[in-house]
Amino acid sequence: MKSDQTFQDVFNTLDWDEVKSSIYGKTAADVRRALDNDVCDLEDFKALISPAAAPFLEEMAAKSRQLTLRRFGKVINMYIPMYLSNECQNICTYCGFSLDVQIPRKTLTDSEIQAEARIVKEKGYDHLLLVTGEANKTVGLPYFRNAISLLKPYFSQISMEVQPMDEDEYRVLVEDGVYAVLVYQETYHKADYKLHHPKGKKSNFNYRLETPDRLGRAGVHKIGLGVLFGLEDWRTDTFFCAAHLNYLEKTYWKTRYAVSFPRLRPCAGGVELKSVMSDRDLVQLICAYRIFNPEVELSMSTRESAVFRDHVIKLGITSISAESKTDPGGYSHPDENLEQFEIDDNRPTGEFTEVIRAAGYEPVFKDWDWALSHVPE
Ligand code: SF4
Repeated sequence: MKSDQTFQDVFNTLDWDEVKSSIYGKTAADVRRALDNDVCDLEDFKALISPAAAPFLEEMAAKSRQLTLRRFGKVINMYIPMYLSNECQNICTYCGFSLDVQIPRKTLTDSEIQAEARIVKEKGYDHLLLVTGEANKTVGLPYFRNAISLLKPYFSQISMEVQPMDEDEYRVLVEDGVYAVLVYQETYHKADYKLHHPKGKKSNFNYRLETPDRLGRAGVHKIGLGVLFGLEDWRTDTFFCAAHLNYLEKTYWKTRYAVSFPRLRPCAGGVELKSVMSDRDLVQLICAYRIFNPEVELSMSTRESAVFRDHVIKLGITSISAESKTDPGGYSHPDENLEQFEIDDNRPTGEFTEVIRAAGYEPVFKDWDWALSHVPE
C-alpha cells in the first residue's frame, strides 16, 4: 500500500446506489452464511444490516453478546463529555450550535474549566471527552493545549470531539496526552453532505473524510467513527462507515477503534429526518457491528432513552456516558439552556451504575487496559 494512500482512494471505488441496492438485495441465505462464518467480511456485514436480517435478530443478539463477553468481559467503561465552547463558524442544518442559530455563545475560561473538572471528578469520572463547536480562531490548538494542561491533573484519559485538524496539530495533541479523537463523517453521501453543511470549513467533505488518516499517521491511540443517523439511509451510510473502519484497521493497525451510534435528536436548529431509524434497527446495527468486528469498542451516549440504554448494555455496547450536559459550563450552571441537543437519559451517574451492576456488569471509570500500557519506562 502506498504511504500517501487515504480512505479517499477506497471511497472513490464505491458507488452509493450500487451499495444500497446490494444491501437491500441480500437474502436470508446471505444472513445465514454471515452468522455461520467465524470471520465476517464487508459482504457479510451488508447481509447483517439488511432488511433480510430482521427475523434473525434474536440469534444476532445472542452471538453479539457472546462475542462481547469473550473480548471485553462483563465490563462497561464510563465516560462523560465536557463541552468547552458552543461557538461555531459552520452552518450544519441539524445542530443547535450552528452559526445561524440565535443562542448566547460561550467559551469556558480557565477557572470555569477547572470548576467543571471538579464537579465531574466528584461524580467519579476519570475519562473525559472534550467537545466544542468549530471556531478555529478562538477555540483552536492553543486553546485545546491550555485546556488539556488544566485538566490533566484531574483525569487520566482525555479524548476529544472537536473540529478536524492537520496531522502536525494532532501530533502535538498526542504529545500533550490526548488519548482518543472522535470524528464522525455525519453522512458518506457526498451530495447530501453538501446540503447539510452549506457553510464553513466543515463543508469540505474530503478534508473530513481524510481526518482519520491524519489521526492514524499522527499516532493517536484511539480513533472514533460514526454516522449521524437520520440524514441519509442508515444502512448504506453504515456500510461506508464499516468500510472506513476496515480500511483504517488494516492501515493503522496499532490504533484502537470505536464506533458511536448518534441518532438525530430535537434541537434548536431542527431538521426533518430523511431516514428514521427505529430502536429495533439500532439493536440490529449494534449486533451487526459486533459480529463483524469483535474487537471494536461500541459506544453509546445519553441521546438514547433510559429503557433503550439499559437494554443494550447487555448486547454489545462497551462504553457509555451518563449524566451528560451538552452545553459549556453545564455541570456548574445546569439551568442555563445553551445545549447542543436534548439528552434523553437524565439519570444521575450513581443510579445508572446501579442498573449496570444489576445487569451483572461492572461499571469501570478507569480504563486499566490503557493505563497499564502507558506506564512510563
Ligand atoms: S455539528 Fe459541529 S460543526 Fe456543525 S454546527 Fe454543530 S458544533 Fe458546529
